[in-house]
Formats: sequence, structure tokens, C-alpha cells
Amino acid sequence: MNAPFPSRPVGLLAELTHRCPLACPYCSNPLELDARERELDTTTWKRVFSEAASVGILQLHLSGGEPASRRDLVELVAHAASLGLYSNLITSGIGLTQVLVTKLAEAGLDHVQLSIQDSEPQSADHIAGYKGAFARKLEVASFVTEAGLPLTVNAVIHRANVRRAGAMVELAVRLGARRVEIAHTQYYGWGAKNRGLLMPSREEAEAAIEVVERLKTQLSGTIVVDHVAPDYHARYPKPCMSGWAKRTLNVTPAGKVLPCHAAELIPELEFWNVADHSLEEIWNDSPAFNAFRGDDWMREPCRSCSRKSIDFGGCRCQAFMLSGDARNADPVCHLSPHHQLVETILAEARVDTQEPQPYAYRRMRPSQAVTRERLDISAE
Ligand code: SF4
Ligand code: SF4
Repeated sequence: MNAPFPSRPVGLLAELTHRCPLACPYCSNPLELDARERELDTTTWKRVFSEAASVGILQLHLSGGEPASRRDLVELVAHAASLGLYSNLITSGIGLTQVLVTKLAEAGLDHVQLSIQDSEPQSADHIAGYKGAFARKLEVASFVTEAGLPLTVNAVIHRANVRRAGAMVELAVRLGARRVEIAHTQYYGWGAKNRGLLMPSREEAEAAIEVVERLKTQLSGTIVVDHVAPDYHARYPKPCMSGWAKRTLNVTPAGKVLPCHAAELIPELEFWNVADHSLEEIWNDSPAFNAFRGDDWMREPCRSCSRKSIDFGGCRCQAFMLSGDARNADPVCHLSPHHQLVETILAEARVDTQEPQPYAYRRMRPSQAVTRERLDISAE
């Protein structure tokens, strides 16, 4: 049955820019990144935020790329605050100075989410593709807490750091974070490109889950531990985005509006742009938003499955990437006729190594490739 009129959105993810000093191989940004010249200007972003507030959105996530690459970040935060939006800065930390963090706090920023790549400096810098990133992030964490802003530390888990998932929770406590998010890699964008080098073995993933869950209990009252388990190793898929186009909108640096950050990889979808339509029109009428609302689109085994209102058939992007059709059940599900694809990927991920991996680093153009030489990590 199709859902009646869509529920109202509660969150907007504003990808202000794809520019980023880091080059994380698990980055979920698309392989074709928007160049600076294509980015929405300040006036358009402010109009988008105003439209978001008027459709009832409460939370604004300022993301990228690295949002601090935008010179108008303070102005955008101030505008969001004037609209009563709760603003969350999702940042690598690189590019944030103490002066800028103070200005952002004064402009009304509500929260900072800082990524770390590992608890071990050399490995963290190798994963980030940026020498000195780890040390810089520790400094930025202190700028954030000194400015009185609540801090969440975010760590993406994969083969190179899976054994230090617990150490990353402990690092977040030392940094003064109120919350830490330990999220196993989602294989989209650059993450999909590097999947073979990122996927931990089932044993490693399960050991990490156990450690993080134990810390979650032990540290209750000290820090909130949010744990996003690795869905490739699960029996059922994740309830992706809490259902397609149900709660959030994602605006790309060039103004394209997506129901989720990875949706562009499904070629059949038609996305509308904020240059041509209001957010309200896009939420209600854009073909991409309506493509997988409700459950009319579902095939068996999802169509007659009792879990379809719990996990919504999993992730449409993952279904497309692995099975070639976004209408199929997410192959992560053990009931999917394509589940063997996931088993094969996991079987190939049994490489037990802690050696630095030769990643395809995320970059804007091949000429900006971050090489091992440039990073001065040849001794690793
Ligand atoms: S995941 Fe890494 S490369 Fe991608 S936007 Fe975030 S900090 Fe930049
Ligand atoms: S068959 Fe479909 S709805 Fe049922 S558990 Fe699997 S993915 Fe979810």
C-alpha cells in the first residue's frame, strides 16, 4: 500500500561543499565530486535553510566535504540560528581554528561532531591521507569544549582500526565528548570503491561489537555510546534512513536534493534541484523522493514479509549496488535470493593484516591524488 501524504521531514543534511583536506578511503561522498564553481552561493543556502524551517525541519546538519572550507560558514550558522534551527557541524576538524570555533559558537552553533580516524596517530594519519591530522583533531576537540559546545566524536570502523574500536571510545572520553558514535563502514561512494581493503573479517567485526557494547554499559553516565553495527555481518538489513524519504532531505553542494546521501548511484532516479523547486515541492513531488515511498515497489520476499514495516526491505542503494536492481531486497538479508553475493564478499575479506592499506584515496581530481610520498609515510 502506498503511504498517504508523506510525513514531514525533521532533518536537513546540507553538504555545503565537497572540498575537504582529508582523503578518507571510506568517504561516502560520490566518486564524482562537485567542484567549487558548482557550489550553491551564500544567498541560495540561506534561502534553503529558510525553506527548511518553514516546512518544519528542526535539525540542520552542516556537512561536506569539510564545511569549514566555506568562507561563509559563520554567516550560514547565524542564519540557521535566527530561524531556530538546531545546527550540528559535522567536521574533520581540519580548517577549524580556535578563533573560528569561538565565532561559530557566538553565531549560535549548537553542536559539533568531530571525526577521528583511529586512536593510534600514525594509522589515523594514514587513513585520513593527511600527515598531522590526528594531532590537529585533538587540538580542535579542546577548542570545541573550551567554547562550551557539546562534542560528539565520530569514528568509522574498518579493517585498519577495528581492533582499536574500544580505544577510540576511551579517546572520546579523554577529549571531553558527551557522545561517541562508533559506526562500521557503510560501503557507498569511496567506501564502495575501497571495500576490499576496508572490510574486516567477521571475527574482527564481532570482537569489536562485543568491546563497544561492554563499554556502552560501563561508561553509562560518563559518555553516550552510539553503535552502528556492520550490516554485512547481520542477519537482517538496517532500516535504512528509517524508510525512504520519510524523515530527511540531503542537499548536495550543487543543490541537488536526495532522499539519502548515496541515492545518486541509482541511475533511474530523477532528482530535483533547489535552483528550480522549493524544498516543499521536492519533498512532496520529486520523482526520486516518491520512487520508494510506501511498499508498492517491493518484490518478494519483502512484499509478503512481516518485517517490511521494520526494516523497509533494507537499503535501496545497497540493493542496487549488489544486485543491480533497487527494487530487490537488500542482499544483506539472509532471505534475499541475492544473499550469496554478501557471503562471497565476506569470504574474500578474511585477510588478517594490520599493514597500511594501499587505498584509493578520496580526491576531487586525479591531479590531487594524495600519494604515500606526499604524506611522508613511506616508512610505514
Ligand atoms: S569522510 Fe573524510 S574525506 Fe570524506 S568528507 Fe569526511 S573528512 Fe572528508
Ligand atoms: S525479506 Fe525484505 S522485509 Fe523481510 S527481512 Fe528481508 S529485507 Fe526485510
